[in-house]
Amino acid sequence: MKNYIVFDLEWNQSPEGKSNSIERMPFEIIEIGAVKMSADLQIISQFHRLITPQVYTKLHYVISEVTHMDMGKLKAEGEPFTEAVREFIQWCGRDCRFCTWGSMDLMELQRNMEFYGVEIPFERPLYYYDVQKLYGITAKDGKEKLSLDHAVEELGIEQSRPFHQALDDAYYTGMVLRHMKADAWQPYISMDYYWVPTVPEEQVTLKFPTYSKFVSRTFETKEDALADKVVSDVVCPHCRRMLRKKMRWFSLNQKQYFSLGVCPDHGYVRGKIRMKKAENGKIYAVKTMKATDETGAKSVFEKKEEQRKKRHQRSDIKKVKRALTPPASGIRRQSL
Ligand SMILES: [Zn+2]
Repeated sequence: MKNYIVFDLEWNQSPEGKSNSIERMPFEIIEIGAVKMSADLQIISQFHRLITPQVYTKLHYVISEVTHMDMGKLKAEGEPFTEAVREFIQWCGRDCRFCTWGSMDLMELQRNMEFYGVEIPFERPLYYYDVQKLYGITAKDGKEKLSLDHAVEELGIEQSRPFHQALDDAYYTGMVLRHMKADAWQPYISMDYYWVPTVPEEQVTLKFPTYSKFVSRTFETKEDALADKVVSDVVCPHCRRMLRKKMRWFSLNQKQYFSLGVCPDHGYVRGKIRMKKAENGKIYAVKTMKATDETGAKSVFEKKEEQRKKRHQRSDIKKVKRALTPPASGIRRQSL
């Protein structure tokens, strides 16, 4: 059986903002905290390291405020990232499943590893549990994203430790996981997007109780992604049948696209594509397909109508602009 590695990172960023930030590593890790839990969610070990930063050597004021960390302590008690992360990976052991609060920690961990030239030994694709998402699914409507202290409060977990320190936050995240019904959260695994497929054979389909998810390979542009047949297919999440589309994919903001299909056995299926940027700057698509009812179908039709109106408005504005702009060959006002 796999152990769960529930971990939390604290990081620093450029104190001068984006202008002095390194694109490949916007967040430099200064603390790793983790608890190892057995398959039945008992804490069997813990891990904690402070890290002396090498790139952003002044603490961003928000970071020092939130984490109560200071550079003196990091210099005195910290070790280099490369050492700390090697010890962490070794402590994790071979067969483990990562759990984090939110979807950022694994991404930033791998960015730091890449930056410092540490080999990344993780499986590809890398699956993990986003406990924040799991809490949203089991206790809320699945869309809400609560803070860790909020969830701890709601679950009535004893708050004997401070928040916003890596080891304590890892401990609380583990406690939240333990307080939820395992069969309610276990099906909802997440895929980490530091690594994404680059060829069709690597594309990923995940099936969940109420929806399915498809992660495409990378493309040069959104248009290329949307022109790909596998990306644009609408498939029933229950019977995998390819569905006839009630409408073409459309978008309100060029990031999310929607479509609607109908399964003869399972009714309406809403397709949603999020276009995302991979680490190498290329585009990949994350498509979810979810069975929906009349109300859900109606809301897709309404979005479509909204998009149609927007498009008309845009073309009206263009027409007005054209009418107001004198033709290039027209009479110009004489300059003084
Ligand atoms: Zn079906």
